[in-house]
Amino acid sequence: ANPVKAYSSLYYFDRRLANRFGRYQVLAKLLKKALNEQAVEVYYQPIVAIPSLQIEEFEALFRIQLDTELEYEIQELISIAEANNWINEIDTMVTKIALNALPDIQKHYQDDNIAIAINRSLANDRITHCCLEDTIDILLASNADLSKVTIELTESAVFENFQQQKKWVEKLQEYGVKVAIDDFGTGYSSFAYLSNLPVNFIKIDRSFVTDLTLDSNEYAMIEMLCKLAHKIGAKVIAEGVETVEELSLLSRAKVDLLQGYIFSRPLSLENILTNQVQPYPDSLSEHLYQRSAS
Ligand code: C2E
Ligand code: MG
Ligand code: MG
Ligand code: MG
Repeated sequence: ANPVKAYSSLYYFDRRLANRFGRYQVLAKLLKKALNEQAVEVYYQPIVAIPSLQIEEFEALFRIQLDTELEYEIQELISIAEANNWINEIDTMVTKIALNALPDIQKHYQDDNIAIAINRSLANDRITHCCLEDTIDILLASNADLSKVTIELTESAVFENFQQQKKWVEKLQEYGVKVAIDDFGTGYSSFAYLSNLPVNFIKIDRSFVTDLTLDSNEYAMIEMLCKLAHKIGAKVIAEGVETVEELSLLSRAKVDLLQGYIFSRPLSLENILTNQVQPYPDSLSEHLYQRSAS
């Protein structure tokens, strides 16, 4: 081995680690500050049904303005919040803001059936007992029509602690709340667990949707998932739909609902209420898969 090379790559590794550590510290500090100032915002992205392409839900997504030139993704801030036990604080704020916004959104579209989907992290569950119990408290304290609320839980969080989470999922559903498994396919993806957990929606992760082709493994997986989901009475949502090719293939695989930039990016409430977004142009309908009558 070349000692100089070994040394330099080690040095490089250390420096990268230090950069990352520094970046993490900076973002964590800025996030905490912004949270203390209650600078939380929520953006909303439509989820549309096949074949009507009508809006069925809006997903509420956390946004915050940090005082920095650093570029960051929301997922990164969520991970930092989870590591520091701030995630419940974020989820609580987002939940309250989103529940408040729902009547305005329904009124704007003149459709009381539009629902709101809210992400709920279970990462701090073991420390703070049950996040879902908190969620139930917030939902019950609000005036919201709970049959128009979906709680999105990530796959790994639910299946890691299955027996306990199952109890809370069922409790939510007793109140009429719907439950979605988010980012399906990125964790343990256990089909066996799914048939034991009566969820309402399964959201296929964007990584399965990007560059989808008919002969891909991803297509086969999505088709199989739809079959299973329909058998257990769940609907499948595909995330990250950007192209008409993807839209066409997803409808062919019998996916029920679509979410992605092809319809709309996440928008502020103000934008939704003033801009008259038309997230389902008629021209998109032509790209839905047409089943021949048999
Ligand atoms: P998610 O729950 O899977 O949300 C969907 C993400 O995909 C959003 O990213 C959305 O902007 C993005 N997306 C939607 N359509 C497209 C598309 O066509 N192309 C691309 N490239 N991206 C698309 P966002 O808002 O950055 O959020 C990232 C993740 O952060 C979320 O993934 C969720 O896991 C987490 N998150 C966001 N808000 C909250 C929150 O309030 N609470 C918790 N616990 N987690 C949240
Ligand atoms: Mg989600
Ligand atoms: Mg997701
Ligand atoms: Mg995701």
